[in-house]
Amino acid sequence: MPRRYAGRMGPHDGRFAPSPSGPLHLGNLRTALVAWLRARSAGGRFLLRVEDLDRGRSRREHEERQLQDLAALGIDWDDGIVRQSDRDAAYAAGIDVLRARDLVYPCWCTRAEIREAAGAPHGDAPEGAYPGTCAHLDAAARAAHEERGRPAALRVRAGAVRSVARDAVRGELSAVVDDFVVRRGDGTHAYNLAVVVDDAWQGVREVVRGDDLASSAPRQAWLATVLGHEAPTYLHVPLVLGPDGRRLAKRDGAVTLEDRLALGEDADDVRSRLAASLGLCEPDERPTPAELVARFDVATLRDAGPVRWDPVAGPLG
Ligand code: GLU
Repeated sequence: MPRRYAGRMGPHDGRFAPSPSGPLHLGNLRTALVAWLRARSAGGRFLLRVEDLDRGRSRREHEERQLQDLAALGIDWDDGIVRQSDRDAAYAAGIDVLRARDLVYPCWCTRAEIREAAGAPHGDAPEGAYPGTCAHLDAAARAAHEERGRPAALRVRAGAVRSVARDAVRGELSAVVDDFVVRRGDGTHAYNLAVVVDDAWQGVREVVRGDDLASSAPRQAWLATVLGHEAPTYLHVPLVLGPDGRRLAKRDGAVTLEDRLALGEDADDVRSRLAASLGLCEPDERPTPAELVARFDVATLRDAGPVRWDPVAGPLG
């Protein structure tokens, strides 16, 4: 597996890793701004990775629009863009490392079967954890599954180990790791594998992303270690909620940069509103990106919690 990224690496390198399945909304843009400010304020490189593993949902036009929106807000990035669709060989090499340690097994379970077998959370296992149905099948049982012809996913054997990830906002994220999927039945490498392989390869030491992915951190930190890397630390950015308290989404109205521009705002207005929601400026200020880099302080995020955003009135605080 390629272990070294072609670019230079530094201890404060960060990244933003959007999935090109639609336009970025204000919540995604705010997370991107935090990731950029965090890396740049520490003098690190900032990398962009397009997470287009899901070929069915990824579109080049979404990718182009996402990159344009980031650039319009003053977010710049170093080196070339890494696309997960180009990295299959690296993910396959990661699976080879696991296989050599007898840490993967085929799994034929459907989602419905897992739900049924898992039932209520039990012992230390988190809700929805894989109950281990295919973990110890003998050769005859495997052969019977193979004969039926349904393609198998591959799961990593985590053995219900407890893993603790460190987060700059939330402190310790601790969870029992279940046997999660590293390659889907259709041959697509799974998000949890790809992200770990890529972050290690790109030299990302702190993963900044939305709070909705915090529950993946213990799994990913564990997998990084198993693959022979030092686990990164994390910074999960509190989410932006719509006026109804649910996660901000299209149903909330003008939530993309394009929507805001159509309302007569410009990119500086939008960046300022995002910065104001991070406690980095007053609502009527228009700081430059460089001024925001100088002002950035992660402590304000720790105090903030989720932000409510009314697309008409702006952040509610
Ligand atoms: N591609 C994921 C998303 O857009 C983010 C993955 C990550 O940052 O680890 O939600």
